Amino acid sequence: MNQSSVPKQDNGLERLSCLYCGEDYEPADVARHTEPVHCGPCITCVDKPACFSCRLMYCVCDVHRYRG
Ligand SMILES: [Zn+2]
Ligand SMILES: [Zn+2]
Ligand SMILES: [Zn+2]
Repeated sequence: MNQSSVPKQDNGLERLSCLYCGEDYEPADVARHTEPVHCGPCITCVDKPACFSCRLMYCVCDVHRYRG
């Protein structure tokens, strides 16, 4: 559970929000969330970072395929 009593502050501290998976990540995980993965023929997820989950039903990409 998050502490909802603390207002959200944008201090630019070591907490980064991922555009793709929406998670907060630490600098150590930056590659997983920002480094583009040149995956196969699926145009939806090509060049997305490893944390991205492709929701496309026909996605054959091992890295991004959504495992629901
Ligand atoms: Zn991410
Ligand atoms: Zn992919
Ligand atoms: Zn895909």
